[in-house]
Amino acid sequence: LQQLFRPLDMLGWVYRTIRQGLVDMAEMFKLIDTPVEVTDAPGAPALVVRRPSLVFDNVHFGYDPDRKILHGLSFEVPAGAHVALVGPSGAGKSTIGRLLFRFYDPWSGRILIDGQDIAGVTQASLRAAIGIVPQDSVLFNDTLAYNIAYGREHADEAAIEQAARDAAIWPFIEKLPKGLETEVGERGLKLSGGEKQRVAIARTLLKNPPILLLDEATSALDSQTEEEILATLRRVSEGRTTVAIAHRLSTIADADLIHVIQDGMVVEHGNHAQLLRHDGLYADMWNRQLREDADLSEAAQ
Ligand code: ATP
Repeated sequence: LQQLFRPLDMLGWVYRTIRQGLVDMAEMFKLIDTPVEVTDAPGAPALVVRRPSLVFDNVHFGYDPDRKILHGLSFEVPAGAHVALVGPSGAGKSTIGRLLFRFYDPWSGRILIDGQDIAGVTQASLRAAIGIVPQDSVLFNDTLAYNIAYGREHADEAAIEQAARDAAIWPFIEKLPKGLETEVGERGLKLSGGEKQRVAIARTLLKNPPILLLDEATSALDSQTEEEILATLRRVSEGRTTVAIAHRLSTIADADLIHVIQDGMVVEHGNHAQLLRHDGLYADMWNRQLREDADLSEAAQ
């Protein structure tokens, strides 16, 4: 009988997920591939966030039983701090984001937000507390207003405008003949990578989460747009606990704390200057990137 109800459960889950405004994360988390194995504990309370600190405590995890990805990962993000996760490709950085949203549960160990184990609270309250700016933002074939307010049906126009102002996309919208009612997407106005990114930032701002997860937010942009978006992100992440998953080290050099992840463990941590002095993996990655950037600018001349 359970087999019979599983597809129904799944449908309900997909519906709830979409209602919670998670579709914009589909790209990053490959939601469709995510097995339906995480359920709310019976009578689970809502997460209550007063001081949005974040702790990974000795977390072990793998997607397949015979291949462990995280090997006792531990790190802490104090409330309000800006922490960056860096490390070689395949180290487990995106996996950390998926566990934080509880798309999977750890094999062992705990993930705490403001002292509460995320396995013991409702998924809806957990996901409401975290905003994400993914690297490739997905827009719906609908108006700009719809795209910014997505998932928050009752947002009024003033709030949408404010979010657009804070994400620095308002000057662009204001000049459009139909303003917020402009259709975007395949049949409508095509937006640049930077503009899409700003719509995603406005969407996140309207959600007003205490915790922000930035997934390499600027990887697909030219360097001037990247600088401008970074400045906006710096402003909007003020006062919020922020975790940035980064590849381009130059974008996270001013993080309060950098955790270097290798083979599913934190192998170094500190701020940029401390890590350079330590002369380990981070320093290697930094020096390699400097060389690559120099080669690129030489090739461009
Ligand atoms: P990158 O910087 O290249 O994005 P990453 O540090 O974010 O890498 P993850 O995406 O977390 O790395 O992947 C860590 C490991 O987990 C990789 O070896 C990857 O192949 C594996 N992995 C990721 N997603 C899945 C999945 N859905 N099923 C099975 N294995 C997966």
